[in-house]
Amino acid sequence: MSAEKLREYLSFYQDLGFTTLYRRTTSLEAQPEPAPLPAELSPPHHMSEVPAFELPGLAPAGDSLAKIREDIGDCKRCRLHLGRHTIVFGSGNETAKLVFVGEGPGADEDAQGLPFVGRAGQLLTQMIEGTAKREGIPLTRQDVYICNVVKCRPPENRTPEPDEMEICGQFLFRQLSAIQPRAICALGATAARALLGRKEGVTRMRGNWFKWRDIPLMVTYHPSYLLRPYNQDAKREAWDDLKKVLHFVYD
Ligand code: URA
Repeated sequence: MSAEKLREYLSFYQDLGFTTLYRRTTSLEAQPEPAPLPAELSPPHHMSEVPAFELPGLAPAGDSLAKIREDIGDCKRCRLHLGRHTIVFGSGNETAKLVFVGEGPGADEDAQGLPFVGRAGQLLTQMIEGTAKREGIPLTRQDVYICNVVKCRPPENRTPEPDEMEICGQFLFRQLSAIQPRAICALGATAARALLGRKEGVTRMRGNWFKWRDIPLMVTYHPSYLLRPYNQDAKREAWDDLKKVLHFVYD
């Protein structure tokens, strides 16, 4: 790649908010030190860590949810396709002001092809609609958009592996770029890791605003975690987080 082309790529990714590039080594032998970035492309010191993922492909111009779904096709890009029944792409308002991102489909979602339709999904619906009602915001689940980091159910509902998140993440990023919501709510650690590249626990991150590219992002507990009977305090905190998000988006 010519220096000019490389400069164009670096500028493009810097505009998207990436401040660090990771080179994937191709052998176990020591690799030579990468050349330093040109001074004008070096990240300011105050910027925090960014995802240690492959850079996503450039989103095609005029991207849309329909085009993204078409590009996913009958996906066999990672091992998760082996156990799935249905690809769970996402559902809701395609021009939503608020997008919720979960981890990956469970058994009910895999059977129905829709995100968050099992027990955790019922709680999520209750949280969205109940909080909105109490806060005087006319909002139903159909008004928001809901999707997951991975679109195929992981076996035994295990946490998605980094490579699965990386491969499927490009489609999540395109969904968010196409919708351009006013805010994103990351449900649980996997969504936070995929969107922010942060590995600390949800307890530390929740209730605070971050950014995915230029879009404000709030991390809160995953509804499955809240279903556990001893998590009453977390439930209260999740409701507080949601209240903050709803007022930010809909006031
Ligand atoms: N948990 C998730 O993270 N996503 C779903 O769609 C359902 C359960």
